Amino acid sequence: MKAVPPNAGAPSDPLPEQPDHQHQLVPSDISLRVKSLESLLVEKGLVDPAALDALVDTYENKVGPRNGARIVARAWADPAYKQRLLSDATSAIAELGFLPVQGEHMLALENTPKVHNVVVCTLCSCYPWPILGLPPVWYKSSAYRSRAVIDPRGVLREFGLDLPEDVELRVWDSTAELRYLVLPERPAGTEHLDEEMLANLVTRNSMIGVERVAPPRVPEVA
Ligand code: FE
Repeated sequence: MKAVPPNAGAPSDPLPEQPDHQHQLVPSDISLRVKSLESLLVEKGLVDPAALDALVDTYENKVGPRNGARIVARAWADPAYKQRLLSDATSAIAELGFLPVQGEHMLALENTPKVHNVVVCTLCSCYPWPILGLPPVWYKSSAYRSRAVIDPRGVLREFGLDLPEDVELRVWDSTAELRYLVLPERPAGTEHLDEEMLANLVTRNSMIGVERVAPPRVPEVA
């Protein structure tokens, strides 16, 4: 395993690709195969390139972490919904109209002052697409996939989260069948906020478990 220097890159991108990773310089085998297949299907008139573009656009721009943020905000605002989410996340998520696209089941993991959950896919990049959109590059990197298990507290520190020793840290390994949504802690000072305002506070990284949701910014007094 290649060591990644601590705090390399911006806080939101703490595990950048290393320049000497030769396999990053050319498209991966799977990318080349997908590209060839796509060219062939388009050439034979079996698929419409515009339809493929629309599909990619959907996942890049329409389905994104805002879906997950709506689920988190609902759970914060509605204790009965939160209970349903924690006992049967697949159904509770479907209540809001988000359906699993690959037949996967969902499990919601509640962060508390004493327990912090973080999600990884050690094997590849399993990720709850319908509610979080496309996985970030660092989530798919070999550095994150290995180090999230070997040194999770170190990884969290690189994301700017220094977890106290008395907080239990649980690392969850996603699979094709079971994927996870971290339910972050609702920050203090948000009692007056409605669901939409709460959702605006929720970040993608907080739903993977690599950061906490920050309290709302207090407007500066002129
Ligand atoms: Fe995977």
